[in-house]
Amino acid sequence: MGERGPYDLLIVGGGINGVGIARDAAGRGLRVALVEMNDLASGTSSWSTKLIHGGLRYLEFYEFGLVRESLSERETLWRLAPHIVHPLRFVLPYQKGLRPAWMLRAGLFLYDHLGGRELLPPTRTLNLGRDEAGAPLTPGHRLAFEYSDCAVDDARLVVLNAMDARARGADIRTRAALVAGRREGDLWVCEIGDARGGRETARAKMLVNAAGPWVAQVLGQRLGIDARAGVRLVQGSHIVVKKLYDHARCYFFQNADRRIFFAIPYQRDFTLIGTTDRDYEGDPARVAASGEEIDYLIGAANAYFRRKISRDDLVWAFSGVRPLYDDGASEARAATRDYVFELDAQGAPLLSVFGGKITTYRRLALDALKKLGVGGDAGWSARAPLPGGDFPVDGLPALTARLRADHPFLGAAQAERLARSYGTRAAAILGAAKSGADLGEEFGAGLTQAEVDHLVDREWALNAEDVLWRRTKLGLVMPAQGAARLDAYLKAKTGLAPPATIPDWRAAAEL
Ligand code: FAD
Repeated sequence: MGERGPYDLLIVGGGINGVGIARDAAGRGLRVALVEMNDLASGTSSWSTKLIHGGLRYLEFYEFGLVRESLSERETLWRLAPHIVHPLRFVLPYQKGLRPAWMLRAGLFLYDHLGGRELLPPTRTLNLGRDEAGAPLTPGHRLAFEYSDCAVDDARLVVLNAMDARARGADIRTRAALVAGRREGDLWVCEIGDARGGRETARAKMLVNAAGPWVAQVLGQRLGIDARAGVRLVQGSHIVVKKLYDHARCYFFQNADRRIFFAIPYQRDFTLIGTTDRDYEGDPARVAASGEEIDYLIGAANAYFRRKISRDDLVWAFSGVRPLYDDGASEARAATRDYVFELDAQGAPLLSVFGGKITTYRRLALDALKKLGVGGDAGWSARAPLPGGDFPVDGLPALTARLRADHPFLGAAQAERLARSYGTRAAAILGAAKSGADLGEEFGAGLTQAEVDHLVDREWALNAEDVLWRRTKLGLVMPAQGAARLDAYLKAKTGLAPPATIPDWRAAAEL
């Protein structure tokens, strides 16, 4: 059995919170290791609504601190990663009998002014009878408000943080699970199991439990510690259909049951609709959208859009569980979205992370290191761009144009996808290629061997699921035959193709 360490910090969990802490700590000079039992972002962090947002609805639950912190992170993250973070405008129609117009206006006034906003445009009022945003909607909608938030490629945000952490010296290991851990003197001694059945011992001065929905399981079953706090698993599901409308804005709709949902332009050709909110009990690895949730979202969309959808229109459905701190709120939608730490300092420190949002991961990392007494420059993570993000926030069109100028064989959509996924690092994937053939085998949907090799060599991808559903979302458009060829290519290249873990969404929903 191999030995690793001693590290200053060992992190369990390669979701957004784990990698965010790893990046910040490595950047401050700590010796850091992170273990992720599956793929990076294979947990909750790739099943979100993909918004970097203040969370307008959390104002209703008086979560002003959380909303302020989230709002101010929008522009910070946009500047750090302008390839994968994009500003969006949200149309919120007033609906008679639901929240009154004055309340929406007051909420949006707060939203505009609570967190620092320098680049994002402010709220405005719309007349849906005249504005094109009214055209796709059922008749009768007149007044609406339009406000700003951002969208993010959540799974790529995780990978980019992990890449940056590694570039700063962190040891990032995927398909490596914390099996057991105990304190020995001033150190944590942890047993790590890998996908080949191997075992290693890793020693570390401090341990962070960022296992998301598994946080309590890691505490109780892996570390043998009785947790004071509980985790409340709240399931949220989304559906994806062919584009319901042509403009680039999103909708923020209210339902008669006071729940809200979004309709968001997604991956060029689709509309993403979500989310639901319901308590979940069961294995977090097996969470899948239920038929009931899918019908709820279809019904909600049909109440607002002229174009009616049915189960036959579904291209994809996905589901995740929020690992929320159990604050005893009776309704799932009211449980706090803020993060809570539990620090166990009886010997070598152990910090467990509950809750949080993709939006606040960088702030959560700052707070986590503060709680652990880590010094150094607390501001650096807001200044250094994430890999590929070293260009201006409005620089994506210029970057895309440069890729096409240097590689005239690239189609417009292909160049744009590469720029949006890899930013300035897209040039390294394309290298000196003079034609499509120079990029090697083409698997379909524009995915080439050169891109796959980059994902394996630099981004920890090992199987087709990692490539098609996390590093990219080409699974939405990839023909089955291309996916099979990719699978065979990866098996030959890596010699280790871990089994897929995403549940079959059609089977789970009994469609
Ligand atoms: P995870 O991403 O689940 O990561 C934990 C990791 O730990 C997993 O990858 C798991 O494999 C690993 N792990 C577990 N046990 C072990 C072990 N023993 N050894 C090694 N590894 C282990 N937030 C936003 O800001 N904006 C949104 O639009 C948004 N929408 C959301 C919509 C839904 C439906 C949901 C469910 C959440 C949404 N969130 C959103 C919240 C956000 O997605 C989560 O708070 C965040 O992803 C949690 O990240 P995490 O790192 O804590 O957990």
